[in-house]
Amino acid sequence: MAGFKTHIATSTVVGLGYGSAMYALFDVPIETCLVSSGLCSVAGILPDIDSESGQTVREITGFAAAVVPLLLLDQLRAYGVNHDEIILAGGSLYIIMRFGLASLINRITVHRGMWHSIPAALAVGLAASWLCDCPVPFLRFMKVIAVVLGFMTHLVLDEIYSFEFSRGRPRIKKSLGTALKFWNPNSLVSNMVAYGALIALSVFAWNDPMLRGGPESPIHTFAREAVDEVLGENDQVNSPSSETFPASTRRNERRRIGH
Ligand SMILES: [Zn+2]
Repeated sequence: MAGFKTHIATSTVVGLGYGSAMYALFDVPIETCLVSSGLCSVAGILPDIDSESGQTVREITGFAAAVVPLLLLDQLRAYGVNHDEIILAGGSLYIIMRFGLASLINRITVHRGMWHSIPAALAVGLAASWLCDCPVPFLRFMKVIAVVLGFMTHLVLDEIYSFEFSRGRPRIKKSLGTALKFWNPNSLVSNMVAYGALIALSVFAWNDPMLRGGPESPIHTFAREAVDEVLGENDQVNSPSSETFPASTRRNERRRIGH
């Protein structure tokens, strides 16, 4: 089994690669790239919250509880929260994550149950989409992908560690197939909970007014609009006010309309 340090190191490297690629390919502001790298890094340790080792759980929750409030700073500022309120919110989030949420997840899950699964990775991504309430849909989408990427990195690494060499011979551990899975054959209830959460979060995201193009346009989404704009595939879209876009995204927009 890959340990905490292996997981955090791997997801950090993957996150930095992802952030660098987004910076190089899509001209995304460097601070957003770094936040995405950080999200990928933290997401890479999340699956082991279901670990039976108390020390592993403490390491994960301590790290995540310290980093996640920092990652949410942008949202708090966007809501017009002042300095003292940010400190209060950060402290409360730390306490909730360190002593509440993590122990709750740990208590209701078993190691390598459905918390280690592909639907769980998607559900965590959808939850992140709600948390990353960024004013630019493309950048929000980018952070969601970072979270899913970090979570999936953990699952893939767990599967890789199912292979080992013992006395020079390759050996396959019993844990093979227990991380990168869609279904838990040992517990129908955990499957129902995981897919129920995934469906509920999908419905929530589908109805998110920010991801939809507003009540007058139920099909066209801001997320698609942002991707089309960056890829230059749709010149007819009406962008949200460029006042809300960071400088580099405004540069893209100017490039697109030929100024
Ligand atoms: Zn794991």
